[in-house]
Amino acid sequence: MKTIGVLGGMSWESSLEWYRRANEQVRGRLGGYHSAPILLDSLDFAEIEALQAAGNWDAAGRFLATHAQGLEAAGAGLVVLCTNTMHLVADQIADAIGIPFVHIGDTTAEAINASGLSTVGLLGTAFTMEQAFYRDRLAAHGITTLIPGDEDRGTVHRIIYDELVQGIVTEESRQAYREVIGRLIEEGAEGIILGCTEIELLIGERDSSVPVFPTTALHVTAALAAAGL
Ligand code: GLU
Repeated sequence: MKTIGVLGGMSWESSLEWYRRANEQVRGRLGGYHSAPILLDSLDFAEIEALQAAGNWDAAGRFLATHAQGLEAAGAGLVVLCTNTMHLVADQIADAIGIPFVHIGDTTAEAINASGLSTVGLLGTAFTMEQAFYRDRLAAHGITTLIPGDEDRGTVHRIIYDELVQGIVTEESRQAYREVIGRLIEEGAEGIILGCTEIELLIGERDSSVPVFPTTALHVTAALAAAGL
């Protein structure tokens, strides 16, 4: 059984969910007093957000790679990065460590393939929806990704940064997401990726007429399996 090294705090609202789910799954599986062996490095999201806004991905990659090395040195047997967006620099992190890196895009793609779907809509930050890194990762698994139109992408992104990462969950935003999902389905989406780790705090299966792929929940399950739990 390996200790899971978690790069979290991006935001802590979703890392809390990751941590809770991991422990619940281990307790459910092993029973008794069992919980997940985790080393959590919870970063200051303000530093990450400033690098994102400046488009300084190289510095962000170096920063996260250094923290991943710290987790390895502290005894982690694998590393996970609890944010879809920062997987933009996943290669920099994975290349810096000698232990496995469980990529959130791969775990999502595997779930989509297992469900037999091939065209999915992607909700996430503007970085995740608009830049190629996430869609390319899914394409490598044979998955076609649709993204919302300009205005809808703005709405989805704004709700993540102005509300969800700050712990604000409103019915109005839930309804806005439902409408974006409806438009993606009209365009041919057979499933919807909740491709930002905070989106699961707002919506779920009940808000969509097609299957949803919650990246936090899927990532937890994959990380536990990789840890031998
Ligand atoms: N947690 C989010 C994600 O999964 C957004 C926050 C961030 O930019 O890291 O993309």
